[in-house]
Amino acid sequence: MVNALREMLARKTSGVGEMKYTEEQYINAGYFEVDDVTSNQNYKIVKVRKWHHCVGLETPEHIIEIGEQALRETAIVEDAGFQTCYVCLPCLDKWLNEINGED
Ligand SMILES: [Zn+2]
Repeated sequence: MVNALREMLARKTSGVGEMKYTEEQYINAGYFEVDDVTSNQNYKIVKVRKWHHCVGLETPEHIIEIGEQALRETAIVEDAGFQTCYVCLPCLDKWLNEINGED
């Protein structure tokens, strides 16, 4: 309970772009599906230098603005080659909230 309260307060006072979870939690959240045609996955929290479509599941479709943080996946996909995609932190927060039984 105390932890939850502290977290809430931290969230209230946190500025734009602050992360609710740690980089590690975002990376280990398992947001991306693992399949047979994808290999060499690499995940990193990055600040995007140009806008990208978020591949997250939240609707409506939205973009990640320049300077915002996002989880980047790079991977090699059979027949498609080297691929990069991005998920915004709000999508990941939702996902992690669900995993952690919040909301
Ligand atoms: Zn998103």
